[in-house]
Amino acid sequence: MKRTNLLFLLGLITLFWSCETTTTSGTRDGRATSKPKNIVLMIGDGMGLTQITAGMYANNNKIILEEFPVVGLHKSYSFDNLVTDSAAGATAFSCGVKSYNGAIGVDADTTAVETILETAEKNGLATGMISTSSITHATPASFICHQKERKMMEENAAEFLNTDIDLFIGGGYKQFVQRSDKRDLSRELKAKGYKVMDYFNNNVEEVELDASAPFAFLTASEEPVAAATGRSYLPAATKKGIRFLDERDARANKGFFLMVEGSQIDWGGHANDANYIITEMLDFDKAISHVLDFAKEDGETLVIVTADHETGGFAINPGSTRDSIVAGFTTPKHTAAMIPVFAYGPGAEAFAGIYENTAIYDKMMEAFGMSR
Ligand code: MG
Ligand code: ZN
Repeated sequence: MKRTNLLFLLGLITLFWSCETTTTSGTRDGRATSKPKNIVLMIGDGMGLTQITAGMYANNNKIILEEFPVVGLHKSYSFDNLVTDSAAGATAFSCGVKSYNGAIGVDADTTAVETILETAEKNGLATGMISTSSITHATPASFICHQKERKMMEENAAEFLNTDIDLFIGGGYKQFVQRSDKRDLSRELKAKGYKVMDYFNNNVEEVELDASAPFAFLTASEEPVAAATGRSYLPAATKKGIRFLDERDARANKGFFLMVEGSQIDWGGHANDANYIITEMLDFDKAISHVLDFAKEDGETLVIVTADHETGGFAINPGSTRDSIVAGFTTPKHTAAMIPVFAYGPGAEAFAGIYENTAIYDKMMEAFGMSR
């Protein structure tokens, strides 16, 4: 072989080798810049920095978020109000648009906007949502429904029939089964091939999820109770749900999108109840740890944890100890503070810095390599 040919061949080998190592290295350190196959977006409703801090101190000064290598901040305001509600807040994440308070998957002109979950479905990914409110409540609804007004709970439930979402777990049984229009959406879901389970016959912690059929679990008649008064399904549902979606995707092998919401951190804020906030925060923390366990093992999953807004103007006042917080609140409503964003896994680096809440949508779409 001529010397020039040999050098050319060596060059090719080196090039191939370096491409190989840049695409495969570092996917397990949580900071890698390569593209993820799966994205899990975890929303702690009303989870500002103080809510996280209170949960951490109450949990012996530890929180699973400490394992996330990338931290950023988002600006949570909505189209028409410096203080967002959960509908506009979730619509910013799901659709990438600043809309008005109360908007569910529609822009400021009330025009429906395709959500990231819908685009993921179109692209053949498996999709799911798990929530500790009713599944038709503003946060989860904004990923699948398109309504001008957030109070359209029965309409939101009916919109679940327009999608092929693989898994949803949350309250709101009534909106599916005891409806003013007499439709039985549980029966309609079963006719579409879903396995549907309800809170009065089944316990999600004991159920084996079978990936051969899409799965719906309605965990309460309306809103699930608080973690402090007996609700415990979120961590188990998240642990099982993520593996269910991974199995659902096994044949297509395109990846999955999962949204998990710790809904009631917000309700603790509205109630100006530090203990309610902390117990919900730690329940959500367990769910995050299950997702992180999966992501560490899998190496192809981007995990983003954030909130739509802060609730209560919560403060940890002088005189507080780790075990006993002297809580202060400025309001029973939401506030406009910037909100922390935690990212782990391939594509995580993009979530460092300060940006609009809508940029979370843009960054997730970019990470997936998808466009609307
Ligand atoms: Mg919510
Ligand atoms: Zn709220």
